[in-house]
Amino acid sequence: MATLLAGKTAIILGVANKWSIAYAIAESYRREGARVILTYQGERQKGTVEDLAKDLGADRVLNCDVTKPEELAALVEALSNEKLDIVVHSIAFANREDLSRPFIETSRDGFLLAHEVSAYSLISVSNALAPLMAHGGSILTLTYLGAVRVIPNYNVMGVAKAALEASVRYLASDLGAKNIRVNAISAGPIKTASARGIKDFSKVLDGVAAVAPLQRNTDPAEVGDTAVFLGSDLGRGVTGNVIYVDAGFQIMGLQAPE
Ligand code: NAP
Repeated sequence: MATLLAGKTAIILGVANKWSIAYAIAESYRREGARVILTYQGERQKGTVEDLAKDLGADRVLNCDVTKPEELAALVEALSNEKLDIVVHSIAFANREDLSRPFIETSRDGFLLAHEVSAYSLISVSNALAPLMAHGGSILTLTYLGAVRVIPNYNVMGVAKAALEASVRYLASDLGAKNIRVNAISAGPIKTASARGIKDFSKVLDGVAAVAPLQRNTDPAEVGDTAVFLGSDLGRGVTGNVIYVDAGFQIMGLQAPE
């Protein structure tokens, strides 16, 4: 039996369904012996996430919309008897129209919303939950290449991911003295509910598979297993990093002509 995470408790924010990257992370964590706590966003998702928790063998399911400070405070209260070792932040949102029209037309409200949900929430969640990581631990988030390169239609989400990646570095600096590591996994494109909101996302999938050194797209389980590394003692020297799990796509400059 694999036990890289035996004795560790992980809270995972962002499981919406079986296709969620957070679900793949939860599967890897359970396989490696972690105790897992899931959160859901609002009553609408409660039953679904409770069913997913049963399938995964997760211990607890708690409510938390990260844009509501009172819900984050209630989450901390509900976790007051827990010793957390790992926090997985797998949350993002932008208005659909901002992921299809030219970036230059991004509205102020759309910009602020994308940044609040997709970047600021890593800061607020880390601030709220770090005190429960009394023996140190690992915080990780999910990012995408659109933070550092222009990807068609990724638009405001790319700018939010750039803020998220910078936040990872500042949080790693703040929390290092407490032996809490903070990292991001930059996953290759994966067909999830969020990704379907990006116009022409299937073309991105096809383009990556054609160019990536491994000549295929990213398997969510590969992200889950890298999250195991970062959450486990194997990753004890790694903080403030963005680790690409993308079949190697990000190293490519120009595709060789046929
Ligand atoms: P997903 O299954 O749709 O997960 C996104 C999650 O964010 C959902 O559980 C959603 O909950 C949650 N969320 C949105 N707003 C929230 C809020 N205010 N409070 C709490 N939770 C909220 O899609 P995913 O692709 O797995 O996305 C997970 C992360 O991976 C995101 O950060 C995404 O940017 C990143 N990522 C994705 C890809 C990809 O190609 N799929 C690649 C690289 C990085 P509801 O469903 O209840 O709204």
